[in-house]
Amino acid sequence: MPGNCLFCRILRGEIPSTKVYEDEDYYAFRDIHPAAPIHVLVIPKEHIAQISDADAGHRLLLGGLLLAANKVAAQEGLTADGFRLVINNGVHGGQTVYHVHLHVLGNRPMSWPPG
Ligand code: 5GP
Ligand code: ZN
Repeated sequence: MPGNCLFCRILRGEIPSTKVYEDEDYYAFRDIHPAAPIHVLVIPKEHIAQISDADAGHRLLLGGLLLAANKVAAQEGLTADGFRLVINNGVHGGQTVYHVHLHVLGNRPMSWPPG
C-alpha cells in the first residue's frame, strides 16, 4: 500500500528532490537543509515509519540500507576521510519525518557527542 508521508511523496516524484543514488530498494537524495557540506538522505522504498518499528522481517532491508549508504559515501568521495551515518528515532531522537532514513554527512570533521 503506497504511503502518504513526505518521503513516500518524494519517492513518487510528487515533491521534487535531487537524486544522488537509486536502485530497486533504495533512493538517496540531498537534504533540503544540509547540516554538512555533503548531506544525503538514504531511504528504503518500503515505508517503515521509524527504526523502532522494524522487526526481523526487515533484516535484509536494513542491512541493505547501510550498504546503500556506503555506495552514496563512495560516490560522494567521502570514503577516504570518513563520514557520519545517523538515524534519528522518535521525539527524543529528533526525528521529524516518519519514514526511516539514514543521514549521510560528510566533508567536514564531526564532533561527538551529538547535541
Ligand atoms: P529527521 O530529523 O527526521 O532525522 O530528518 C529529516 C530530514 O529531512 C531533515 O534533515 C530535513 O532537513 C529533511 N527534509 C525535510 N523536508 C524535506 C524535503 O522536502 N526535501 C528534502 N530533500 N529534505 C527534507
Ligand atoms: Zn513513507
